[in-house]
Amino acid sequence: MILNASEISVSTVLIGILFAALISGISFRVKFLTLSGSIATFILASFIFGLGGIKWSVPILTFFILSSILSKLRKKKNENVEIYFEKSGVRDYLQVIANGGLGGVLVVINAIHPNEIYYMIYLATLSAVCADTWATEIGTWKKTATYNILNFKSVEQGVSGGISAIGTIGAVLGSIAILFSGILWIDISYIHYTILIITTGLFGSMIDSILGATIQAQNKCSVCNKVTEKNVHCGNEANHFSGYKWINNDVVNFFSGIAGALFLLFLKATIKI
Ligand SMILES: [Zn+2]
Repeated sequence: MILNASEISVSTVLIGILFAALISGISFRVKFLTLSGSIATFILASFIFGLGGIKWSVPILTFFILSSILSKLRKKKNENVEIYFEKSGVRDYLQVIANGGLGGVLVVINAIHPNEIYYMIYLATLSAVCADTWATEIGTWKKTATYNILNFKSVEQGVSGGISAIGTIGAVLGSIAILFSGILWIDISYIHYTILIITTGLFGSMIDSILGATIQAQNKCSVCNKVTEKNVHCGNEANHFSGYKWINNDVVNFFSGIAGALFLLFLKATIKI
């Protein structure tokens, strides 16, 4: 295995690992991550920081830090929607893998066969997961009309597959955050770059909502009758209601990252950006 020696040195790798330890440690302390989430972040971030340097570190840090702060603020502002979410704002290892796992794979591939396309795919996956994270957090910031993405029937805020005007603005803002995080290192025109990152973000978050409305596991509380991602509700075990049991929010997030990557490749191939 030949690594791209001009970009990767022993000192970059060591600094990367130290920085990964710092970020995962702090994130655990401030309750951005559970213990398992912190360990997963340490491993993932060691690869991304160590092999990718600043160029690959800034986008994932932008996503991770801003999204974590947004989750905390939203939770303070609107606790009501928490009854629908499977997990609270503190992220565990499955959430870390769902959002950043593809990035880890891409940084390794790029270290072996350097090619700028991997960086663009990386930004596209981050744009997708950041867009759908921000769509959820900003869309549930305060009470707002929410509709099922497929049949446009009114649904309760926070339900999987629900979309709102504010949530869509959140998705665009999430994509814009990733857009800026990678802008120093791209080798295509700004206009093409903007089109690619914003559209892949919106596409990824749309796929996230469609999967959320169809195949994602939903449970129904036997006490209050609400449909929820949670396994336990109102102190009772909630019964399986719809979707595939193994497709939880993390699996859907992972798919939406892949959708962002595929959409980028599709755009590259069809409109030759
Ligand atoms: Zn209930």
